[in-house]
Amino acid sequence: MSGIPGVTLRGMEALPVEVEAAITGGLFSVSIVGMPDVAVRESRERVRSALRSVGLNLKGRVSVNLAPADIPKEGALLDLPIALELMRAAGALKRCPRALYMGELALDGRLRRVRGAVPAAFLARKMKIPLFIPSENASEVSLVQGVEGYCADNLGELVMMLKGEEKPRPLPPAYIPDITAAPEPDFADIKGQLQAKRAAEISAAGHHNLLMVGSPGSGKTLIARAMAGILPPLTDDELVETLLVRSTLGMEIKASRERPFRVVHFTASTVSVCGGGADLRPGEVSLAHRGVLFLDEYTEFKRDLTESLRAPIEDGEITVSRAAGSVKYPSRVLLVLAANPCACGYAGDPVIPCKCSPAEIERYRRKLSGPIMDRIDLQLAVPRLTPEELLSIDGKGTPPEKSESIRKRVISARNIQIQRWKEHGYTCNAEIPESLVKRYLTLDDETRDYLAKMAMKMNFSGRGLTRVLKVARTIADLAGEEDIQRKHIAEAIIYRQVYNRR
Ligand SMILES: [Zn+2]
Repeated sequence: MSGIPGVTLRGMEALPVEVEAAITGGLFSVSIVGMPDVAVRESRERVRSALRSVGLNLKGRVSVNLAPADIPKEGALLDLPIALELMRAAGALKRCPRALYMGELALDGRLRRVRGAVPAAFLARKMKIPLFIPSENASEVSLVQGVEGYCADNLGELVMMLKGEEKPRPLPPAYIPDITAAPEPDFADIKGQLQAKRAAEISAAGHHNLLMVGSPGSGKTLIARAMAGILPPLTDDELVETLLVRSTLGMEIKASRERPFRVVHFTASTVSVCGGGADLRPGEVSLAHRGVLFLDEYTEFKRDLTESLRAPIEDGEITVSRAAGSVKYPSRVLLVLAANPCACGYAGDPVIPCKCSPAEIERYRRKLSGPIMDRIDLQLAVPRLTPEELLSIDGKGTPPEKSESIRKRVISARNIQIQRWKEHGYTCNAEIPESLVKRYLTLDDETRDYLAKMAMKMNFSGRGLTRVLKVARTIADLAGEEDIQRKHIAEAIIYRQVYNRR
C-alpha cells in the first residue's frame, strides 16, 4: 500500500485505514471518499485550516480516498493522516515513515486528544510499526508495553520530526504509583455493623456480588462506598483491560491500580448502563469492569434495566448491537446492591414501626428476587443500630479497624487466588466455573456431611451450594488456611439467609 495508515474504531478494536490522496489542476475542491458525509465535512475544514498553519494552501482538485470503503470511519481520528497525505500529494512532505498516525487537528494546527489511542497502540504493536499520537494521549499509550510511540503538540512539530529537522519525541516512561491512601469513607469511620463490614471484606477478597438490605440510616450505602478503599489493586493485565474501555470512551486516564468504582442511579437509562448509542459506546457496566458496579436503592430500578444486566453479569461481557453491527465489551464487575427492607423502609427496625401492610411487604420483596438475585453470593440484613447501641459503641473497646489494614488481608487473599487459578486463566474464586468447583473445592467427610445437612435444612439449590462453597473458599483464603473447614462453611451460610434462599 502506498498511502498513509490511520485508524478507526469498532468497539474497543482499532482497524487500519489507508489514506490516499491526489491533487490535480482545476478549480479548488476537496472530496473525501469512504467516510460519512458529516464527518467528511468537519474533517475537511479542520485539515484545510491546520495545513495553513504549516504554510500549505491547498489548491486544485483534491481527492482523498479512505480504504477499505466498507468500514465506517470516524473523521476526528483521521485528521492527522489525511493532513500528512495531502502534504505529500502537494509535494510539501518528501518522506513519511511507515507508521500509524492518529489525531484530531484544531484549526490552528494543534493536535487534540482522541479516543481510542490505547486500541490504536495494540494495533501498532500487532502491525510492528510505530505510532504517532497527540501529546495529550501520550500517558495512556505509554502504559501499553511493547509499543514504539511518538507524540507531538501540533502538526508543525510533527512535520519537523518527519523531515528529520527535529528529533522524534518518544512517549514518557510509564509510571504506575502504588495505591497509598484509601479513598473516603474509611471503614473505621463507620460505627458497628461488624457483620456487614465482614461481608464487604469477603466480597472484595473473592469478587463476590453483595446485597445489603437495611433501613435508611443503617449505613449500608456508606459501607458500599467504603468498599472502594479495600479492593485489591489491579493486576497488569486487568489494568490494560480497564484502560481499553476508558480509552475507547476518550476519558481522561490516570495511571493507577485502583479498581473502577461506578455508582449507578435508578434513573439511569439502559444505554448509559449497558452501552450503545450511535457509535456503540461502552456503558457503566463496562466502565466498572474489574471493579465495582454499585446500584443503590436497587428496588427502585426498572425491571427492564435489571433484566438487561443479567447477561453481562453472568457472562462477564456484553454485546452492544445496532443495525450496523455489534461489538463486545468486557463487564466482569463486582455487583454491589443496597435496598430498603420494605416500601416505607422500616420493616424489622428496632425503633421506628413499619407502616406497610403484609401484602405490600410481599409485593416489595418480590423485587428482591429474580435473575440478578441468583448471581448474588452474599446477602445480608443491615439493621439500623438502636440509640443505645450507638452510644455503647462510642468510646468502648477496641477502635474499629481501618480500611488500610482490611485491604492488606484482602490483597493477600486475592494473591492466593491468583496463584491457585493462574493456569486456568482466572483471578478470583467468584469467577471459576462449575467444573473447577467440583475439582478443587473439595471437603473432608465431616465438613461435607455438615454442608449436606445444612443444605437440606435451608433448601439450597445446586447453585446455592456452589455459592456457599466459593464463599467458604474465600473465607479460608482470608484466614490463610489451606483447606475449607466447617467454620468457613458455617460463616458462608450466614450470607445466604436473607431473601432468596436458593
Ligand atoms: Zn414498611
